[in-house]
Amino acid sequence: MKLSACELCRMTPVTSGREELLYEDPFCYIVENHHLEIDTDNGTRYARARKCVVLKDHGRQPSPDQEEAAQRRLKTFLGEQGLEEGRDYFIRTTMRTFPEHYHSHAIIYPLTDEPQG
Ligand SMILES: [Zn+2]
Repeated sequence: MKLSACELCRMTPVTSGREELLYEDPFCYIVENHHLEIDTDNGTRYARARKCVVLKDHGRQPSPDQEEAAQRRLKTFLGEQGLEEGRDYFIRTTMRTFPEHYHSHAIIYPLTDEPQG
C-alpha cells in the first residue's frame, strides 16, 4: 500500500467526519470509534464505547517501545476520564480494518448482547 493511499496516515476517518478526534500529538492520535461490534469467544457483543489509538508512523508492527508508548497514551487519556484498565475497559489490537497501519483499541465495558443507546 502506498503511504498516500493509507487512510490512517491521512487521518481520513477524522477528516471525513466519520470519527471524532479526541487527542493528537506528533506521535499518535486517538479517535472515538462508532463501530461497537466486538468479536468475542461468546460471539458478537457490543461495547459501550471504543477508542482507538493510531501511530502516526505508517507500519504494521511498531517497535515494542513505540507500541508501549502508544498504549500508554491511550491509557493516560482514559485515566483522565476516570477509566481504569481491567475495571472499565480492555485493550485489544486486531488490525482488521487497516491491517497495514498499527492501531489499538480500548474497548469500554460493559459488553452487551444488543447495541447500547
Ligand atoms: Zn498508514
